[in-house]
Amino acid sequence: MVVIIAQSNNKEVYMEKIVNLTPHPIRVKIDDETEVVFPPSGTIPRVETIETPSEEIDGIPTVTRKLGQVVGLPDPQKGVFFLVSSLVFEASDRSDLLCPDTGKTCIRDGNGNIIAVTRLIKKGGKMKTTKRVIETTKRGLPAIWEGGGSRTNTGNSTIVAGANGEPLPPLYIRRRGTLACSVHALIGAFEGMVVIESDHHRRDFNIQVWRVIALQKENCECGGQETCSCQGRGWHWYAILEPIHRFTQGEWDVDPPEHLLPAIEAGQAKALCYHCREPHYITEG
Ligand SMILES: [Zn+2]
Ligand SMILES: [Zn+2]
Repeated sequence: MVVIIAQSNNKEVYMEKIVNLTPHPIRVKIDDETEVVFPPSGTIPRVETIETPSEEIDGIPTVTRKLGQVVGLPDPQKGVFFLVSSLVFEASDRSDLLCPDTGKTCIRDGNGNIIAVTRLIKKGGKMKTTKRVIETTKRGLPAIWEGGGSRTNTGNSTIVAGANGEPLPPLYIRRRGTLACSVHALIGAFEGMVVIESDHHRRDFNIQVWRVIALQKENCECGGQETCSCQGRGWHWYAILEPIHRFTQGEWDVDPPEHLLPAIEAGQAKALCYHCREPHYITEG
C-alpha cells in the first residue's frame, strides 16, 4: 500500500488512496474548511504522440497527431488511485486513474490561473471501448475469425463465442493454404457476442475478454482500390469492443462468470496448441 502525505488545513493527514503522478502539487478545495494538497510523487507518466507530416495549408506546414501509448504508469495497486494529467487520463483505459477537473467548477485567480480544483474526474462506469476492422464475408456480412496457435515458447488465440459464451456455427472453415497458427474458422458477427484474445509466454497468460457492443460499416480511406484489404469495396466492417474481463499477472480484474469459462479455457488450449491447424471452439456440423 502506498501512503502519501497531503496537507489539509496545515495539518498533515495521511491519504492512503491517491498518488499524484503530475509534475505539480494538486490542490483540491473540498469545502470552505477543507483543502487537500497532493504533492507530486516524482513519477510522471507521459503519452507518446505519433506525428505524421500532412499537406501545407496556405503554405504553412501541418502534421496530424495521434495519441499513442502511455509510458511510465506504475502498475495497478490494490486500493490506490493515480492522479494524472488529462492527456494521460484520456489516452489510457486504466480504471484506477483520476484527473483534476479543470472545467467550470475549478477556482481561478484574477488572471485565470487555477488555484484549486473542487473535484476529480474518475473513469466512467462504462469502460473505454476499442474499434477494430473485422472481416467482411463475400455476401457483405460482418464476421470474425477464430485463429491462433502455439509456437515454441509463445502462442496466441482469438476465440469467438455467443453472448453467453456458447460456441457458434462457423460460416466457413479453412482447409487449405497455410493453416499453422493462422485463422481457421470464420464466424458471423453480431452485437452482444464475446471475443476472447489470449496470448502467453511460457504459459504466463494475458487474456482479454471483449463484448461486441456495436457493428459499424465505415468507408475505407483507400476510396475503393482493389489492392486494399477492403478488396475494392471501399468500406469495412468495424466492431466496437468493450473490455469486460482481463487476466494479467495471474489474476482477473473482474472474475468472469461461469458460463464464459469454457470459451476462455478453449482460448488457452488453442494458444497452447502447437502449430494449431483447426478450429477449437465451434459447434459441430
Ligand atoms: Zn480500402
Ligand atoms: Zn489446435
